[in-house]
Amino acid sequence: MLSLSSKISDLPRVGPANTKYLKKLGLETIQDLLFYLPYRYDDFRLRKKIADLKPDENVSVQGEIMLIQNRRSFKRRLYLTEALIADESESIKVIWFNQPFLTKNLKVGDQVSISGKTSFTQGQIAFISPQYEKIYGGKNYGDNLIHTAGLIPNYHLTDGLTQKQLRYFIKQVLNLRNEIVDWLPKEIIRDFKLLDLKTALKKIHAPQNNNDIETARRRLAFSELFLRQLKSQLIKKELSTQQASPLIFKEKETRAFVASLPFKLTTDQRKAAWEILQDLEKKKPMSRLLEGDVGSGKTVVAALALLNTALNKQRAVLMAPTEILAKQHFASLTKLFKNQKIKLALMTGAKKSSEATQADIIIGTHALIQKNVELENLALAIVDEQHRFGVRQRQKILDFNKKDKLVPHFLSMTATPIPRSLALAIYGDLDLSIIKELPSGRKKIITRLVNEKSRNQAYDFIRQKIKAGRQAFVICPLIEDSDRFEAKSAKAEHEHLQKNIFPDLKIGLLHGKMKSLDKEKAMQEFLDKKTDILVSTSVIEVGVDVPNASLIAIEGAERFGLAQLHQFRGRVGRSEHQSYCLLFPSNATTISEKTKERLTSLEKYHDGFSLAKMDLKLRGAGELYGEMQSGFSELQIASLFDYEIIKKSNEAARALVVKDAKLKTQPLLKEKLGEWEKTIHLE
Ligand code: ADP
Ligand code: MG
Repeated sequence: MLSLSSKISDLPRVGPANTKYLKKLGLETIQDLLFYLPYRYDDFRLRKKIADLKPDENVSVQGEIMLIQNRRSFKRRLYLTEALIADESESIKVIWFNQPFLTKNLKVGDQVSISGKTSFTQGQIAFISPQYEKIYGGKNYGDNLIHTAGLIPNYHLTDGLTQKQLRYFIKQVLNLRNEIVDWLPKEIIRDFKLLDLKTALKKIHAPQNNNDIETARRRLAFSELFLRQLKSQLIKKELSTQQASPLIFKEKETRAFVASLPFKLTTDQRKAAWEILQDLEKKKPMSRLLEGDVGSGKTVVAALALLNTALNKQRAVLMAPTEILAKQHFASLTKLFKNQKIKLALMTGAKKSSEATQADIIIGTHALIQKNVELENLALAIVDEQHRFGVRQRQKILDFNKKDKLVPHFLSMTATPIPRSLALAIYGDLDLSIIKELPSGRKKIITRLVNEKSRNQAYDFIRQKIKAGRQAFVICPLIEDSDRFEAKSAKAEHEHLQKNIFPDLKIGLLHGKMKSLDKEKAMQEFLDKKTDILVSTSVIEVGVDVPNASLIAIEGAERFGLAQLHQFRGRVGRSEHQSYCLLFPSNATTISEKTKERLTSLEKYHDGFSLAKMDLKLRGAGELYGEMQSGFSELQIASLFDYEIIKKSNEAARALVVKDAKLKTQPLLKEKLGEWEKTIHLE
């Protein structure tokens, strides 16, 4: 008998390979599957007779396969599968590309359901690459369709797994949702007019109409935000009983340090630093979020807090999301503190040293939290580029210093663009400092969508800038070439640029699969200007700071979300040099109007918040959340723009904690919260 906790591998048609892929998505049990939510729907509800079809409509038909065959087109270098499908009214041509195996599955005489957009080619209406589904059984066959003829959910996938497989697996377990006990208190469900969990799950995976999607989403987003806020309220409560080491503000040394910087701090940087340094003086542990768009200069503010901690003979950690960024922080802080008697140590996943535990400031990746490193006298913990909401990190750091019963002060830094009121509702337990202004002298990064015809011109432009002394990044979506995607790979692009385009320039390569030392070397050579161009994958997305680089070219730009593109763009424009961002779509002739609008919005908008709003606006019908959300992967379904749900769930969480801070009256909820905490990845 299957239950919620059964392994997915117990289901029919789930072999070891699928089990592995599903695990990559974090899916192991049936319960995991049920809570794996779609991100978008195809609207194939309109069913028509073939004779009634018009060009360019999203529609479903059902009929019999009269003819099906593969053909190889040598000119276009691809396989075509052509079929003729007929119902009682008419017949229609259907074409698929590069799926020669289709003829193994679909045979003449089979009944099929076809869904997709009709096109008009060679004087007739046809389906090009539509969705299809074989129909088995009797008269009401249409009711069992899961890939066509309805509102069809789409899930995020991983290599090796198809939409059809995932839909099929979920469909098989959907009835087990009835075993789920709703952990949200009944009064809350009633007061906020929410769906119960079972109904919401049914409606999100198999909606009949848009209202189903909306009400289900509301319930699921509410739960998601509610848990987060509940946890952050509980942490706040716990913190109010805890103590930290007060760190005295060393005014003289701090002023001298600030005076030694090669630039003047902006007013916002000063204000943020002041708020932080004042917090550090208190016995009450600091819980502060420093929010500032990419390039606003958060690092130096953090450095002031680190400096004061060290001057107080206490220890601090600084954690970054990637090894590359941790190394960069190590290098730049070493330089900043060269005239101080401060011992710095780097402790990344690859390296663990005893010397690190002796240092005043330890710099590492977020994994430092996971390792539960025992650090005596830890008085300050800083987490850089915190894209996630991080309540679990907060809890971990609270547990850091159990020995001497003092907890470290906590500072989280993020470029996530959220207005103050929202940030307060979402982060709950954190106080907020915001850096709004960029350092003076920064020029807007000139951003252009470049079409293929102008590629050579763009290369000339890059060469010209490099001759003038600047450097450039080239970003590629993949590491290696893949038969599955047309996208450019960093390795191939590196070779191509070096051989054919810029043989006279030095070109470096950086990607996530390189050995740690090689990564370091590539980064260092770029920093030292030994290479002119760095071809990289998204590993340089956050934090990387190479002020002399003034140009970034992004290949396959349409494959990235706006948030990510904005982060990439933030790698340039970090000095007084006019900077440029060139967006190259994979195949400029086939990008849709919508994609074009999305990409050109980067030409117009230069701050993260406007781009997040734009992303929401461009969200198409049937899309659950915008791509901007990819930056907030901890939220599966809620969006930062769900003002009403954020406020209401915040209200509910607060009220509950006021009434019952230990959740004694809510055993179910307490259990769920524990379970939920475990599912949040720390990274
Ligand atoms: P982020 O907020 O994205 O982490 P960084 O702290 O990396 O930004 O700063 C971006 C760049 O701006 C760095 O090269 C840094 O040295 C420089 N910088 C920081 N503050 C100022 C300032 N007040 N004036 C000029 N340059 C600054
Ligand atoms: Mg940074």
